Amino acid sequence: MTSTAPSQTSDQAGHAGSTIGGIVGAPSVSRAQALVSRTAGGKDSAPVEMTAPFTGAPITSLPQATDADVRATFDEARRAQRGWAGTSVAERQRVLTRLMNLVLDRQQEGLDLVQVEAGKSRLDAFDEIAGTALAASYYGKHSAKALGVKRRAGVFPVLTKAHELRHPKGVAGIVSPWNYPLALTGLDVLPALAAGNAVVQKPDNQTALSALWLHELAEEAGLPAGVWQIVLGRGSVIGDAIVDESDYVAFTGSTATGKRLATKIAERLTSYSLELGGKNPMIVLPDAKVEAAATGAVAACFSSAGQLCVSVERIYVHESIREQFSAAFAAKAKALTLGAKLDYSAGMGSLTSAEQLKTISEHVDDARAKGATVLAGGTARPDIGPLFYEPTVLTGVTPDMTAFAEETFGPVVSIYGYTDVDDAVQRANDTPYGLNASVWTGNGARGREIAARIKAGTVNVNEGFAASFGSIAAPMGGMGDSGVGRRNGAEGILRFTEVQTVATQRGLKLRPFKGMPPRLWARSLTGGIKVLRRLPR
Ligand code: NAP
Repeated sequence: MTSTAPSQTSDQAGHAGSTIGGIVGAPSVSRAQALVSRTAGGKDSAPVEMTAPFTGAPITSLPQATDADVRATFDEARRAQRGWAGTSVAERQRVLTRLMNLVLDRQQEGLDLVQVEAGKSRLDAFDEIAGTALAASYYGKHSAKALGVKRRAGVFPVLTKAHELRHPKGVAGIVSPWNYPLALTGLDVLPALAAGNAVVQKPDNQTALSALWLHELAEEAGLPAGVWQIVLGRGSVIGDAIVDESDYVAFTGSTATGKRLATKIAERLTSYSLELGGKNPMIVLPDAKVEAAATGAVAACFSSAGQLCVSVERIYVHESIREQFSAAFAAKAKALTLGAKLDYSAGMGSLTSAEQLKTISEHVDDARAKGATVLAGGTARPDIGPLFYEPTVLTGVTPDMTAFAEETFGPVVSIYGYTDVDDAVQRANDTPYGLNASVWTGNGARGREIAARIKAGTVNVNEGFAASFGSIAAPMGGMGDSGVGRRNGAEGILRFTEVQTVATQRGLKLRPFKGMPPRLWARSLTGGIKVLRRLPR
């Protein structure tokens, strides 16, 4: 495995003129501080220090909101929402289209910020720029169609007119995790805004700068001040206030936190979407091209160092090609370049936090101790940076090992053999999760047939995750313990609306006419319903 050493300035961060995280080429600390000043609230007496995963050096200090700060921020957002909801959808679309151009044109700074605070390779950071720009582009073009008034068939043709209207929910509370801080902000915040809502977002403290950067660009693109508010704080301190004040909650994070939040949200009968964890399978059929599948598996398992909700952690390979696939895949994993530079030289970046390093080391050490074989990786790389861990391929993983069924959320994948495709599908489905899956085959139709039998919100044929992840027009989300609701596509914006039916009746009343016996009315209507069934409506 090759590596590039981290680049640190001798001048560590903490001084306004130095670079954030002490990383060569990164934006300055004063720039980070300017972004942080965009947050709302911040009266908590204990600010949080962000550190850069590449170097462990400080980035900046983050003010933390109190419960009262959050409630006051919702009040402000509620006031701003009235004006925003009064703008036309066409005007909101124009803001998003301008934002798409700003994200693409200013991507160098966005890439730097994502790399510095999440520790990603630049290519993985680019996925975030692309995902955000695609979301702005999609909702900048299709919101009017999704939100437009729809004419529905009335009970009596001509006499009854039924219309379906979409109203914004009000103020959406959006909680975002650290692993895709820019893209997951874009994918949730932008449709909420396009639907006419205000947003109060809580990004993760580790990765607040990316969300704040997009916030700055959105206001430059014409979003009125106050419509999108960002509060920083610990979930344990401000989570209740967010749930209490939100008219809709969009949460992305772990299944454990999602379930806790859902219980609280249910008390208020607020609607919500939950985008949660996974233990995503990949099935390699006997007719798959082995080299292509092994190359695809590298991207599927090690993008963002495996800290990706849709990342593959289990690979089922037909016995006829298992050895060949395992050798090719392990060789490609070993050849991945690890690096901590703000350029495109590295194939994989760092883990994001010390907690992640601990979990991943524990999963691998546990598997090794119980008899699994490490085909590639299996070692931390402090020589590159404090949180680097090699891309790791395991085989011989058994149900008593933690990595068998628990989400590792890191660059660790297990290979299993199978002889019967039905057995592979059944083992792929043998999990409470259902987020993403991947099928590799020389026969696309066969791949789609197997995909339909896998219990997952997205299934990619001859790809790991990028095909569905990039298809913003199609819904994305989880089944089972992987979530409730969907982001992206029409579902992704309609979830932020209340639907209302307005039905107008002309002429014929929907009750017996004056003097008509109710029994006769019931009989007439019985015949009428049968006739209406035959009409093309
Ligand atoms: P997490 O611990 O659940 O935290 C996620 C976010 O929720 C953080 O910002 C956290 O803030 C906040 N939070 C925690 N408790 C809260 C509460 N009571 N009220 C409000 N907010 C609260 O998850 P994580 O470990 O950071 O993220 C990784 C997990 O997210 C993985 O399981 C991954 O699969 C999943 N994920 C899913 C998707 C998807 O689209 N399905 C996408 C990305 C990640 P604090 O840290 O301050 O508590």
